[in-house]
Amino acid sequence: MAGTFTLGIVKPDAVEGGKTGKIVAHLEAAGFHLRAARLVRLTVAQAGAFYEVHRERPFYAGLVEFMTSGACLPMALERDDAVLHLRSVIGATDPAEAAPGTVRKLFAESKGRNAIHASDSPENATREIGFFFSEGELAGLRD
Ligand code: UDP
Ligand code: MG
Repeated sequence: MAGTFTLGIVKPDAVEGGKTGKIVAHLEAAGFHLRAARLVRLTVAQAGAFYEVHRERPFYAGLVEFMTSGACLPMALERDDAVLHLRSVIGATDPAEAAPGTVRKLFAESKGRNAIHASDSPENATREIGFFFSEGELAGLRD
């Protein structure tokens, strides 16, 4: 089956909490293949641009502060229907509402500090993968 791609990010709460390996293992066990990844510390400008769609929301400033508070791990992930499957695997935004066995239920602290990001559409997956990974790093992945 032809693979499709999505962008996941292990967020700073999970990296600092020593949960990165467990989360990557969970994603691999769920059928995702890790195709690109890099530990990065986002600047305020980068986090602000990545979450531009949320600029007018009341949680935006706190979200940018959180996402720049430590290292995070953006990942290009491949499997069939990658966007839909990753959204299902991570669970609801608020871990209190996330289904049992989802990444956020297992590893998130709160609605804000919720362990993982996942693209919400194929169009946004393309944009978000391009935000972190160059054509050269991704060369050959889509053939
Ligand atoms: N967020 C928050 N408070 C809210 C809603 C969202 O702190 O009431 C944060 C949270 O970290 C979330 C991110 O903003 O993951 C982006 O929000 P979105 O609604 O896109 O949720 P997601 O797609 O990550 O489930
Ligand atoms: Mg979202």
